[in-house]
Amino acid sequence: MKIVPRNKVIHTFSTDMKAVEHVVPGEVIKFETNDSWDNQIDSEDKLRTQIDNSRVNGATGPVYVEGVEKGDLLQVKILDITLADKGFAVARPDFGILCETVKKARTRVVTKVNNSFFRFMDILVPVKRMIGVIGVAPLEGEYSTNIPWKHGGNMDTSDITEGSTLYLPVGQKGGLLAMGDCHALQGDGEIFSGCEISAEVTVKIDVIKNKTIEWPLVETKDYTMVIASGDSVDDAAKEATRQAVDLLSKGLGLSWDDALILASIAIDLKISQITGSKKTIRAAIPISIVSTQRLIEARG
Ligand code: CA
Repeated sequence: MKIVPRNKVIHTFSTDMKAVEHVVPGEVIKFETNDSWDNQIDSEDKLRTQIDNSRVNGATGPVYVEGVEKGDLLQVKILDITLADKGFAVARPDFGILCETVKKARTRVVTKVNNSFFRFMDILVPVKRMIGVIGVAPLEGEYSTNIPWKHGGNMDTSDITEGSTLYLPVGQKGGLLAMGDCHALQGDGEIFSGCEISAEVTVKIDVIKNKTIEWPLVETKDYTMVIASGDSVDDAAKEATRQAVDLLSKGLGLSWDDALILASIAIDLKISQITGSKKTIRAAIPISIVSTQRLIEARG
């Protein structure tokens, strides 16, 4: 199995990224990822307000996938996320919901107990391992790895986890997949930070030819989720809903209005993160109604 080392890092998803590794569809590959602060916080004495922001949210890669073209879908099956033994979480007075209530920036170490639990102070919290930043080269323009958008990026979506499959719209030849910013724990919303941690992520990369989606999809055991972002929570929620209704309409052959009613009674809007400059909401369509495969097949 090929391994993409953690010193191969990008901070921008752009149209002309240079690949550091190549795979063929169906290949399994491991990405070594840095924590979102590039290990600048290594003790409780180091504060989020003291670090070099230019090193934040690096993504390991990118990896070129042979035979993948603009207009295809990249399918990324997340097989394993192996976490380091400890991570860090913070509160800060300058950024995040309720930051105005923070008297002084604070860092807490969060330590692995076993594969199921991490310890915060003396509290055991069940692990929710996830990938914060994952994306491909965009169709146009360039995006800091701090930003979530149609190419993926800093979506901080807790369902991008072991066992899930992510679908990303390919903007450039080869796809050019990169990822980083794993969390051992993160509440939906990511009020200040996740438990930011280094990891090793093993994925199986595949391609679905000539199918497009506008925003990333993540498939879990029970849901297909559209992950959309916007300048406000309202904007992101509206866009996620619009995409979900469109998927339902095409996937089930319903009129727009009927798909809207179905969405209203059957889908869940969930907050991914509302801490960044762009907010991210996912619209969860139950697989019991329609499969992910059917939703994708119905796309042009
Ligand atoms: Ca993040």
